Amino acid sequence: MREPVVRLQRGRDRSTRRRHPWVFSGAVASVEGEPAPGATVVVAAHDGTVLGRAAYSPSSQIRLRLWTFDEATPVDDALLHARLDAALALRKRLVLTADTDCARLVFAEADGLPGLVADLYGDTLVVQCHSAGAERIQDVAIAHLRARTGAARVVLRSDAEVRKLEGLEPRSGVVFGPPIEGGLVRAREHGMQFLVDVERGHKTGFYLDQRDSRARVRAVARGRVLNCFSYTGGFAVAALSGGAEHALSVDTSLAALELAEKNVADNGIDPARHDGLRGDCFDVLRGLYDEGERFDLVVLDPPKFAPAARHVAKAARGYKDLALRALKLLHPGGLLFSFSCSGAIDRALFRQIAASAALEAQRPLTVLGELGHPPDHPVPTSFAEGEYLKGYWALAQ
Ligand code: SAH
Repeated sequence: MREPVVRLQRGRDRSTRRRHPWVFSGAVASVEGEPAPGATVVVAAHDGTVLGRAAYSPSSQIRLRLWTFDEATPVDDALLHARLDAALALRKRLVLTADTDCARLVFAEADGLPGLVADLYGDTLVVQCHSAGAERIQDVAIAHLRARTGAARVVLRSDAEVRKLEGLEPRSGVVFGPPIEGGLVRAREHGMQFLVDVERGHKTGFYLDQRDSRARVRAVARGRVLNCFSYTGGFAVAALSGGAEHALSVDTSLAALELAEKNVADNGIDPARHDGLRGDCFDVLRGLYDEGERFDLVVLDPPKFAPAARHVAKAARGYKDLALRALKLLHPGGLLFSFSCSGAIDRALFRQIAASAALEAQRPLTVLGELGHPPDHPVPTSFAEGEYLKGYWALAQ
């Protein structure tokens, strides 16, 4: 069947020619017929030159997500299989080892599969579709990933907010394999054990994107560690598996803190070396300072403060406030690990925020290294939006 043609406005083809995978609704001049949500369409410049093929999202601002950038390549099972195989090969080469059995196997646009995320935790595969196009290829993708990984279970977590923008209903649950006993699956990262709530946890249950930073924390932790926005205790387990004596995890979620306790115990760490504190980190940081508590290492890994560009100024104040309070809590010679997962805050701005916090705290701060995505969250040069996680680790004097 011939695919409908979507023609772009005059002069609005530049980003597609640069292989950016999104076309916004304002760039579309005409749509042939009424393609169904997720249908494959041919993308043409205003003069009719074919630029590629895309998934059509009639109700989203992101109207087109490009599958291919040439006229010749059809969007068929062979193309999807090839993309999935390339994505898998990268993870097998760079992430999955005897010590690590969890990874993001497919990272959507970054792997040429817009809207599709697939994470592996041991023998459980968790799949998320964020767009109509991804939803349409879901069954082909799941069948192929199952065949290639031998996963014993597949869980769908297509319940993210962004689906509303696509007019998609939430869909989640175990779609293949046995139910999850006790609601938790086991994952191994750099030899550490983590229990993951793949059905109800954040994202697909775990922050796989912090793998490299957890490894760094494990390598350098000493003394007392404060793990702010701890979720299920990933950084606490890392610090305690390294050289830390004690870690305090702070989060507003009791369920997350309970799982953090379990994760500590599961790694054979004396539970007395870890405490969980339920509270708002902004208040807790101030309270700890007033009580005279001091730490050797502080992790700040808050949720996204700037969901869009218009939130940047307010978000920047939040990040600065946190860094300022964390610096005051650090012993001289202590280490700060600070992160932002707001796509709208770039590295330069995040560094400026650190500089102004250091000035205000009167604590010189020396950056020791940049932190960010591990290689299973790759960032194409043509898709800068893919880089959402930024961080640094730094020495506070
Ligand atoms: N560092 C974690 C991921 C953090 S996700 C890891 O590596 O796994 C952000 C966490 O912050 C969530 O668990 C959320 O419950 C928590 N949170 C959000 N706002 C908070 C606040 N104001 N104070 C404390 N925790 C908060």
